[in-house]
Amino acid sequence: MGHNPRFRMWGNEDWQGYCPTIGDMDRRGWSLTATCSTCDLKMEVRVEVVIREKGRAWSPWGKTAKCRRLHCHGRMYLRGYAPRAGEYVDI
Ligand SMILES: [Zn+2]
Repeated sequence: MGHNPRFRMWGNEDWQGYCPTIGDMDRRGWSLTATCSTCDLKMEVRVEVVIREKGRAWSPWGKTAKCRRLHCHGRMYLRGYAPRAGEYVDI
């Protein structure tokens, strides 16, 4: 896996421009995880399920979801892994 050093300079806006929708993330092979800011529960996000529910044009940027753990009222934040860049990105 070649790591392109230019990606290290990128901010969130650059990443959002590069992969604006869930369909783009799927096409570029991103894997997504959701982490709860309250209880630290981590979950793998199945991109194909999100696409089936929301469509390929849906944008996950800036979105949070209710924590899936019982009795936790925290919010889950998404993080993407861009395999071609070898970088983790806060979504
Ligand atoms: Zn939680």
